[in-house]
Amino acid sequence: MSFTQEVKAELVGIPQDRECCARAELAALTRGASFLNVSGGRGFSLRYRTENPAVLRRILVLLKAGGAIEDKPRLLVQRRFGSRRLYILALSHADSRRALKDQGMLAEDEQGEEMFRPPSRQVTRRSCCRRAYVRGAFLASGFIADPRGRYHAEWVLPDEAQARHLQRVLGHLGLMGRVSQRRGQGVLYLKEGDELSELLKLMEAFRAVMSFENQRAEKSLKAHAIRAFNCDQGNLGRQLAAGSLQTAAIEKISLARGLGSLPRALENLARLRLARPEASLEELGKMLIPPLGKSGVQHRMRRLVQLAEDMGDEDVRE
Ligand SMILES: [Zn+2]
Repeated sequence: MSFTQEVKAELVGIPQDRECCARAELAALTRGASFLNVSGGRGFSLRYRTENPAVLRRILVLLKAGGAIEDKPRLLVQRRFGSRRLYILALSHADSRRALKDQGMLAEDEQGEEMFRPPSRQVTRRSCCRRAYVRGAFLASGFIADPRGRYHAEWVLPDEAQARHLQRVLGHLGLMGRVSQRRGQGVLYLKEGDELSELLKLMEAFRAVMSFENQRAEKSLKAHAIRAFNCDQGNLGRQLAAGSLQTAAIEKISLARGLGSLPRALENLARLRLARPEASLEELGKMLIPPLGKSGVQHRMRRLVQLAEDMGDEDVRE
């Protein structure tokens, strides 16, 4: 199960006991997951469609709770791309009108023709209803990436105006989503870990909040460990690079003149370096007899490297 599916599975089980919130959640589902079917002389039929049967059950529960349906809705199943199915819940014309009116989504133009309109402000006036609206919108068209990867949540809506509307609803709840266009559709998205956590909280997906926060903690721990490891690697790398430069210098002296040509103090250090190419200067100093501090070792090492640099290539013995 993807993280999106997990979140939706939790959302559809949230008890919906406030009438105002049930209406708001349903309005978002109507906006994001329905279409009007106009055919024959029976007037339009409001049809909800989704690939998620649990979401369809949720819609049915909300419709019934609102008392908007009296006729038995029809369930249609369409097969799509192999095993995927599209579930469609079709309401009778009378129920469609009642449901849309109840959600404040049916208006009349000057000729008295009924038309579909965005949910009235009334529907999302209270903050409890705004949260329910965001939940419905997520069930209809929401996606949230697995928190083990990048942080990303989005709603893909039919057009930019709808994305802006949802952006405003989220904004009233303190979440600043960004809107972009994708192939003519409006996409509202959130990209920060804190925002996603907040989104799950406000939709009341508390189990998902827990698992999101656990993943987030694990990820930040891992990032911390990797940073620490890379830092160690960096030091070790510098140490090895310095060590190999010194080793090369000493080998050059050894080839050209032999290490025996060096003053005893330098010769000892040179032999020790060849034996322990990975050791730090501090460690080399402790191995010397008598021991020598880091700066002393550094000084002698510099003299060795300088000696090698002063020797031309022609000095190297064949
Ligand atoms: Zn409410």
